[in-house]
Amino acid sequence: MTNHLEILDNPASAGREANPYPARVQLVGAGPGDPELLTLKAVRALQTADVILYDELVNRCVLDLANPRARQIHVGKRGGGPSWKQRDIHELILAHAFGGRGIVRLKGGDPFVFGRGGEELAALREAGLEVEVIPGITAAVAAAASTQIPLTHRQLSRTVTFLSGAGPGHGLPEFTHIDLEALNDGLHTVAVYMAVKTSHALGTTLIGAGWDPETPVLAIENATRHQERRVRASIRDLAERPEALALKSPAILLIGRVAGLPVHGQLDVIETANTKRPTRELAYA
Ligand code: SAH
Repeated sequence: MTNHLEILDNPASAGREANPYPARVQLVGAGPGDPELLTLKAVRALQTADVILYDELVNRCVLDLANPRARQIHVGKRGGGPSWKQRDIHELILAHAFGGRGIVRLKGGDPFVFGRGGEELAALREAGLEVEVIPGITAAVAAAASTQIPLTHRQLSRTVTFLSGAGPGHGLPEFTHIDLEALNDGLHTVAVYMAVKTSHALGTTLIGAGWDPETPVLAIENATRHQERRVRASIRDLAERPEALALKSPAILLIGRVAGLPVHGQLDVIETANTKRPTRELAYA
């Protein structure tokens, strides 16, 4: 692989590594999977880290860019086993940080979008550590780019909401914390994270909130990775037969009129139950 990373020898950052005190923790967004979507700052952090604590969602190709001498610690859920407790992750970071090492806490997508980055930041600050936050491309934005579906569009979507399909404590949410009725103006896009288990509840809630059941839904699995899969359906499909989408994690749903625009690349289309008519695709005006 060509090394495009020589440009990272940026004099503005030189000398930072020379002083390991106070312990430096970088909370870094690893993006959706494709390593080329990392920021230059993220790559530099990986190249200079002594210890990297990474989540399950982080694509291992991203770790190939890391300092080969860095210790890499997986703190995610592996093979359906139990997850690390947030408190244990905090303690592990603190133990390494007070050993004077440069720590990278690497999270999928952006650390501050459904990544519990806020909680980790608070714990680190409380312990008196200096933290730098390096953003990453969040899944909704990556999936939109990969499928060439704009999240906002002057005629079709004036606002966008990032919604979590997971409730507090890993339960399924009832979506009572969000006024989906108010968002039902035909000009709104909802991007739903952690949506695989929750798609049925979400579909029925949206219909209950008055959304047109034929509103298009675009589900994107493994966005920007080689196994990326896209499937188009409708809110009715979510409510009535979510299994027809055959979604696997990680997947994101884009819901709203923009989701009916022509998709770049391969697309699976769910046929509607009675008519066998594919969900309608809008044309660009
Ligand atoms: N901080 C992450 C989100 C963590 S929550 C971010 O900013 O993207 C985990 C959820 O993110 C997954 O359940 C899925 O909904 C979404 N996700 C992460 N990576 C994804 C990918 N490559 N393709 C599709 N969805 C993804």
